[in-house]
Amino acid sequence: MLDPNAMDRSVDPCSDLYAYACGNWLRQNPIPPDQSRWSAYSKLQDETLLRLRQILEQASKGGVERSTAQQKIGDYYGSCMDESSIEKLGAAPLEARLAEVRALASKPALAAWLGRALPRDPGGLAFTYSSAQDYRHAADQIAQLDQNGLGLPDRDFYTKKDARSLKLRADYLAHVAAMFALAGEPAERAQSDAKTVPRVETALAEASQTRVERRNPDNVYHPMTLAALTKLSPGFAWEEFFRESGSPAPARMNVAAPRFFKALGRWIEREDLAVWKTYLSWQLINGKAALLSAAFVNQDFAFFGKTLEGREALAPRWKRCTERVDAALGEALGRVYVEKYFPPVAKEQAQRMVSAIQASMDREIGALPWMSDATKQKAKEKLQAMANKIGYPERWRDYASLEVRRGDALGNAERADAFEYRRQLAKIGQPVDRGEWQMTPSTVNAYYDPQLNGMNFPAAVLQPPLFDVRSDAASNYGNTGATIGHELTHGFDDEGRRFDAQGNLRDWWTARDGKQFDQRVACVSTQYSGYTVIDDIKVNGKLTAGEDVADLGGLIIAYAAWKAANQDQPARVLDGLSPEQRFFVAYGQSWCTNERDERKRVRATVDPHSPEKYRANGVVSNLPEFQQAFHCKADTPMVRKNRCQVW
Ligand SMILES: [Zn+2]
Repeated sequence: MLDPNAMDRSVDPCSDLYAYACGNWLRQNPIPPDQSRWSAYSKLQDETLLRLRQILEQASKGGVERSTAQQKIGDYYGSCMDESSIEKLGAAPLEARLAEVRALASKPALAAWLGRALPRDPGGLAFTYSSAQDYRHAADQIAQLDQNGLGLPDRDFYTKKDARSLKLRADYLAHVAAMFALAGEPAERAQSDAKTVPRVETALAEASQTRVERRNPDNVYHPMTLAALTKLSPGFAWEEFFRESGSPAPARMNVAAPRFFKALGRWIEREDLAVWKTYLSWQLINGKAALLSAAFVNQDFAFFGKTLEGREALAPRWKRCTERVDAALGEALGRVYVEKYFPPVAKEQAQRMVSAIQASMDREIGALPWMSDATKQKAKEKLQAMANKIGYPERWRDYASLEVRRGDALGNAERADAFEYRRQLAKIGQPVDRGEWQMTPSTVNAYYDPQLNGMNFPAAVLQPPLFDVRSDAASNYGNTGATIGHELTHGFDDEGRRFDAQGNLRDWWTARDGKQFDQRVACVSTQYSGYTVIDDIKVNGKLTAGEDVADLGGLIIAYAAWKAANQDQPARVLDGLSPEQRFFVAYGQSWCTNERDERKRVRATVDPHSPEKYRANGVVSNLPEFQQAFHCKADTPMVRKNRCQVW
């Protein structure tokens, strides 16, 4: 939980907690060639992958009696690992799909084809069609259309004008051309087709919502009828699209990004059919590249792995295949994982800690000086209603209708995508399943879902060195306690606070309290906007506000919970650290991370989390408890003059 050897005691914790807690770790843990970053979390995920690999290798062995689930995960893995069969096929698995696109003779036919194609390409060809919980009616599931269709990680990659962005776009163009050539186009044609792709994607990017815009739920909630959608976006044949999509046209749907669909319709109208056929061909190739022969995999890695993220080497095949099984059949694989590696006692102990953190939040709300009793009562109701899901889902997903065929890696992936697509569409008009998980049990991460008002902690995040109940309480609370506090605070961050106890987007705050809250979030936002990610790139404090608020509130609640739970314990000194110091060093060490520069730049645009150094230092510099623990003087860097406090 706390590794004294990872620390650098030559650093003054009052000037830089992160360097003090992680200094040696950062030197001792270089980034492996196949990774773009390396942290306590990624290390644990890597170890978990090894465990999953064992399960999968066992399940993929022929000649022994296997359960249906073992057959599915084993054959999926075995097919993915069968490199020589995949190699022999080359570009062949793509050809039939590309031929479908080439044969499209009209724009309505294109819309109909998109409807048919979506199940096999749910990652999106221009946009996504799925289901979602209704923002204002949390008990209902409705259809949802959303923006998509960009090859680069964010709209900003198409609009920024600095030298690095221009170079990246030139590299992207070369990559698209190389992929068209691999798919069989003559060199000259591949070059000219490649130029079409960024042109279409830039138009889609300019019409796309920014990540900051999308943090406001009002911006992504626009329920409308099919007639209204057709009026918004008349250039696209929606009737044809829905008719072919495998589910009846919904009477009402959420068009999450109206501006995007308006522009898409206009563009489809304006541009030649040939332009769209080129663009959709690229989308198909790009979406399947990682599942095809080595030539495709390597070219895909050269751009997305190396150029974009700075990785030096492709991950070994077993890792990529294990991750694919986890993505396609995660609850079948996770069920075996949980039986082997997540004992009931771990679940009970995590549950106990969650309850302690929840009780601590309840006390914090009660004691808040700036909030009225009316809002406090509603906040406490929301806290009481929050569901805690620990380890794995109560009811495992049934994969019976998903056919997995040995020797058909790409087909298996497409059938898994279609299974998921149909599962999502089948929810439309049905009551919401409040027990569903968005992460698999073998994921080293956790999340809060504002619409279900629930926290989820997968089994794999509840293991050493992140969680170990036998270890010192101070470090346990500083690490996993802070994570639990973080997820819980998401229910009350600037986005989460907009939802009520049942998960409806509804304002339950008095106007005065809402204003107070916004001012406090603005303090945090300004603080983080001052931090530098790399070069001259600053943290986008408006993008990271929710995570920063959750980090800050989470640590305060965890600290109070730890104090309340361990009042009677004698204050032992271990490794030269008082219990209070161990709490904060363990917190700092939970963030030890080495990261490649390329990845830092991408993250600054796409990741709502601040860089790890600031997740440690930004939080503790707002905490008088930290300053007391290390006897920091008022003029040291870890003592902020304008303290930010929300919760
Ligand atoms: Zn978070």
